[in-house]
Amino acid sequence: MLQEQPFSYCLGAVAGCLQTAQEKLFRCLGLTPADIHYVMCTHLHSDHVGWNTQLVNGEWVPTFPNARYVFSKQELEWAQTADAKEPLAAYRDSVLPIVRKGMAELVEDSYGLGDHVRLLPTPGHTPGHVAFCFGRGRDELVVTGDLIHVPLQMRYPELNFARDKDPKLARETRRSFFERYCDTPTLCCTAHFPPPSAGRVRRWGDGYRMDYSG
Ligand SMILES: [Zn+2]
Repeated sequence: MLQEQPFSYCLGAVAGCLQTAQEKLFRCLGLTPADIHYVMCTHLHSDHVGWNTQLVNGEWVPTFPNARYVFSKQELEWAQTADAKEPLAAYRDSVLPIVRKGMAELVEDSYGLGDHVRLLPTPGHTPGHVAFCFGRGRDELVVTGDLIHVPLQMRYPELNFARDKDPKLARETRRSFFERYCDTPTLCCTAHFPPPSAGRVRRWGDGYRMDYSG
């Protein structure tokens, strides 16, 4: 985590590099993986944990050697249980190596990091899914993870994504999340919207829309 660094700078740099290789991303940021102190996973699906590790000489090792990896305790327990029933490749190559090296920080819903970072439980897509809120005193920015996938779900929060584990809970979480941030200055950073993927939540009928105007 970059301390004393404006979030807008970090996000702008990341947004410009999302489609590129990891090396290019770090070049954009002027960082190396060793500079990263915290990695926060909203949930443990394969497309949200893929950079946790890298394959070195046939072994999956942490990509960020000096980082603490923040996982929801409930999410990890769910993944462990699921993997015991049927092997989950992403869990085995991108999560388990972190846990075995003692680099995982398993956190409860009340987790916070200093007075700038807080966890917001957003279950439904997965049982332990969380959003991360950034900002001192108020949520200046929130990272949604997969509580939403496409803009249409803002207008119609009752629409589920196919992989929502608990569709009813996912619908409730989605609406309460957008109600929480509706017509506030909080910048909402989605994981799967097309660019620009970050905006502010505004009301639209009995649903919501994203305002990208800045
Ligand atoms: Zn997901």
